Amino acid sequence: MNNPHVQNLDAIEEEFQTNIESGLTDAQVQQYQEKYGLNELKGKKTKSLAMRFLEQFKDIMVIILIIAAAISFFIALKGHDTKEYIEPVVILSIVILNALLGVVQESKAEKSLEALQNLSSPHAKVIRNGKLTEVEAKMLVPGDLIEFEAGDFMPADGRLISSSSLKMEESALTGESVPVEKDEKAEIAEDAPLGDRLNMVFSGSSVSYGRGKAIVTNTGMGTQIGKIAELLDSAGQTQTPLQLKLAKLGKYLGLLALGISIVIFAIGFYEGMPIIEIFMTAVSLAVAAIPEGLPAIVTVVLALGVQRMVQRNAIIRQLPAVETLGSASVICSDKTGTLTQNKMTVMKAWVKGKPEDISDEASLGIKSLIRLGSLASNGTVEVIDGEEKHIGDPTETAILAAALKMNMTKEQLHEEAPRVGEIPFDSDRKLMTTVHMIEGKPYALTKGAFDVLLTRCKTGDFEAAKEVNNQMTAEAMRVLAVAYKELKSVPHVLNSDEIEQDLHFVGLLGMIDPPRQEAKDAVDICKKAGIRPVMITGDHIGTANAIAKDLGILNAGQKSLTGAELDKMDDQALSESIDQYSVYARVSPEDKIRIVRAWQQKGAIVSMTGDGVNDAPALKAADIGCAMGITGTDVAKGASDMILTDDNFATIVDAVKEGRGTYDNIRKAIQFLLGTNMGEIFIVFIAMIIWHQTPLLAIHLLWLNLVTDGLPALALGMEPVEEDIMERKPKPKEEGIFAGGLMIRIVLQGLMFAILSLIGFYIAGVNLHSLGAAQTMAFLVLSLSQLFHVLNVRTTKSIFRSNIRNNKYMILALLVSLLLIVVIVFVPPLAYIFEITPLPSAYYLIAVLLGIVPLIVIEIEKRIRVKRKA
Ligand code: ATP
Repeated sequence: MNNPHVQNLDAIEEEFQTNIESGLTDAQVQQYQEKYGLNELKGKKTKSLAMRFLEQFKDIMVIILIIAAAISFFIALKGHDTKEYIEPVVILSIVILNALLGVVQESKAEKSLEALQNLSSPHAKVIRNGKLTEVEAKMLVPGDLIEFEAGDFMPADGRLISSSSLKMEESALTGESVPVEKDEKAEIAEDAPLGDRLNMVFSGSSVSYGRGKAIVTNTGMGTQIGKIAELLDSAGQTQTPLQLKLAKLGKYLGLLALGISIVIFAIGFYEGMPIIEIFMTAVSLAVAAIPEGLPAIVTVVLALGVQRMVQRNAIIRQLPAVETLGSASVICSDKTGTLTQNKMTVMKAWVKGKPEDISDEASLGIKSLIRLGSLASNGTVEVIDGEEKHIGDPTETAILAAALKMNMTKEQLHEEAPRVGEIPFDSDRKLMTTVHMIEGKPYALTKGAFDVLLTRCKTGDFEAAKEVNNQMTAEAMRVLAVAYKELKSVPHVLNSDEIEQDLHFVGLLGMIDPPRQEAKDAVDICKKAGIRPVMITGDHIGTANAIAKDLGILNAGQKSLTGAELDKMDDQALSESIDQYSVYARVSPEDKIRIVRAWQQKGAIVSMTGDGVNDAPALKAADIGCAMGITGTDVAKGASDMILTDDNFATIVDAVKEGRGTYDNIRKAIQFLLGTNMGEIFIVFIAMIIWHQTPLLAIHLLWLNLVTDGLPALALGMEPVEEDIMERKPKPKEEGIFAGGLMIRIVLQGLMFAILSLIGFYIAGVNLHSLGAAQTMAFLVLSLSQLFHVLNVRTTKSIFRSNIRNNKYMILALLVSLLLIVVIVFVPPLAYIFEITPLPSAYYLIAVLLGIVPLIVIEIEKRIRVKRKA
C-alpha cells in the first residue's frame, strides 16, 4: 500500500477488507499470501551445487594438482607407454573426488546452520478470526492486525490503531537512536520523513516501551526496510576466531610446503632422478603438507556442536559462541525463572499485626490488599478440569490465584472497578500502576518492590512493614508492596513522577518461587569445572541471599551487593573487588554491563543472561550473551549469542560442556590430520636425504591425504564429550589451539609414523630387492599406523578405558578407510593403477605389527603422564 500514513483507518480497513476488531479470516490470509507472498526480505541467493563444485577448484592446492596432472599428461603424450597416462588420470580423479567430498561437507555444514537460524526466527502476535494467536513473522499479510509490547521486533510495516506509552527504536531505518514516541492520532504530511510518521510502525524497528496495536500495511520487500534491504547485511560473524587462526596456519603450512618441495626437487634434480617423478613427488608433498580437509572438518564439528546444544535447549545464534562457551569462566545469571522455577505462590500477606496465610478465612484487610493487588495485575488464571492455568507474568498471576482462593475472580473485580489507564512494569522502576474507577472516583493502584514503593508513599505503618519485609525475605520470599491514592481526575498522560507519588501504603505480599533442582546440580558442576556462578537479580537482597545460599551460589567468604552500593563504587573499585561478590540484588539491567566489564578486566570470559530490552547492551558486552527463550523479548534475543529455550541456568552449563567437548574434538581432528601430514613430509624428506629415493609415490600421498584421512578425522569430530570434561579448568583466554604441548606431540607422532614406514621400506627393500615392493610396504605401514593411531587420539585416557561403540561413525570411518586401503592393495586392476607390488604374506603381517606400534607407544606415554600428574 502506498503512503498509508496519510490514509485514514477506515480507508485502510476497506482496502484490505479487514476489521479492526477481529482481523482477517483464514481464507483471506491464504488469498493474500498468494497475492503478496511471504513476509520476508529476500536474502542472498543460495549457491547451486554446480557452483559449489566449481568453487572447490579455486583452492591453490587443487590448481597446483591440476597443473601437475596436465604436465604429466603432456609428458605421457610425448612418451610411448600407455601406462604413463594412468598418473594424470588418477590425480584428476582424486581431485574430483576430493571436490565432491568438499561439496558434501560444506552443504551439510551450511544446512545445519540454516536450520538453526530458522529455529530462532521471530514470531508475531496477530488477531485473526477474532482470536489472538502467535504466528511466524513471515506468515503475516497486509491487513493483519498485530499487537506488540516492549521488547518486540516489529514484523512488518503497519498503521497504528491504538497505543499506550508506545516508544519505538527506529535507528535501523532512520539512524536516530533515541526512541520515538508514537501517536495513532497524529496527522502526517505526505512527504514527511520516516522518523516523523508517528502514526506508523515499521519493520526493522523494535518496541522500547509500552504497547500498541496496528494494521499491517506492507510486508516483505514492500516495507520501508525492504526498500533499503540491500544496504543491510544482517548476517552475523560466521567465522570463529579459531577458524581464522587455522586459515592463517594453513597459509604458513603452504609456505613450508613450498620450501620443502623446492628442497626435495633440488636434491632429486642433483641426484639425476627422472624429472617427472621428482616433480610429482614435490607437488604431492606440497599437497601433503597442507591439511586441506581441516577447514571443512572444523566447520562440520562446530555445526555438530551447535546441533548438540539445540538438543540441550540452547540455540546458538553466533557461531563463535560455541568456542567461547568452552572457555567461559564466570556465568552471571538472573534469578527469577532461570535459577528458580518462576512458579510464584503468594504464601503470606500482611497489613497489620502478624502476616496471615492465604485462605478464604483471611481477614477483611488482607482481602482488600489482595483485591487491590489483583486489580493492578495483568494476566489471567483459569481453572480447567480442577487445575489452575496461569497466563501472564507469574508475579501477577500469583496474586490473581490468591484472589481466586478468596473467591474473587478477575472479571468480577474489573466490573466493580474498571481500569482506565496503566503505567507498565519495568525492571528499572520496579513498579507498576493502574488507574481504576472505584465508586465513581479515579484511583491509582501501585504495586512493586517494597523499598522502592516506600520512597513513594506518604502515609502508612512503614516501621512495622520494614520488620515484616525483613522476615519474609529471610525466608526466601519475594515481597511485593501495594499502595494507592485517589486522583482528582483521570489523567490524559500517565506520568510516573506525578502519579506514583504521595501514595498510601497498604500492605505486603510474600511469595515463594522455589529454586530449580537442576540449577542446584548445575551450580555444583560449575564449581568442579572452575566456573564461578553469580546471581544477578532485581529482587530484594534478603530474598536473593536466601536463595543463593540454598543453591550453593553464595558460599562462606563471598558477599552480596545491592544496586545502591554498586552505584557508589567506581569502575576501578568494582573491578578490584569483583571476585568477592556472588550475589547482586536490586540491580537494574543497566548495572549488568558494569559487572560484565569488571569481570572482563580481570581476564574472565563472562556469560550473562537477560530478557528485557534494557538487558541488550549487557548481552552484547558479555562474551556469551544468553537470552531467555520463553520470557525473553525479541530485542534481547537479537542481542544475544545464544538463546536458552527453557530459560534454565542448567542449560548454560550444559552448553559450556558441549562447547568444551566441541573444542576438544576439533583439537583431536587437528592432532590427527597434522600428525599424519607431518609423517608424510618426514618420510619423503628423510628418504630423499638418505637414499635419494622416494618411498611414497605421488598417487599414494594423494590417496592417503585426500581420500583416506578425511573420514577418521571427521569421526574424531563426532566423538562424544569426554566424561571428565567438566572436571577440567576453563581454557584461559589467550591459550591457543596447540596449548599443552600439542604441537610437539604432533611433530613427534609424525616422526614416529615416518620411522615406522621407513623401517618397513628398508626391510622390504633390502630383502626383496625391489623398489616397488619397498614403496608398497612403506605405504601399507604408514596407512595402517595412521588408522590405528586414530584410536589413540580419540581419548586422553587409556584406549582400554574408552568404548569405541560410543561413536558409531568412528567404527564406520575406520572400516571404510581400511577398505579404501585394502582395495588398492589387493584388487589387481587398482593395484596396477596405484603401482602397488604384491608382497609375500609375511610382509603384510610385519606391516600390521609396525602399524600397531603407535598404539603401544602412545599408551605408555599416557600412563607416564597420568602417573606424573598423580
Ligand atoms: P531477575 O532479575 O532475577 O529476573 P526479578 O524477576 O525479581 O529478578 P524484576 O523482574 O526486575 O527482577 O523485579 C524486581 C522487583 O520488582 C521484584 O523484586 C518485585 O518486587 C518487583 N516486581 C516484579 N514484578 C512486578 C510486577 N509485575 N509488578 C510490580 N512489581 C513487580
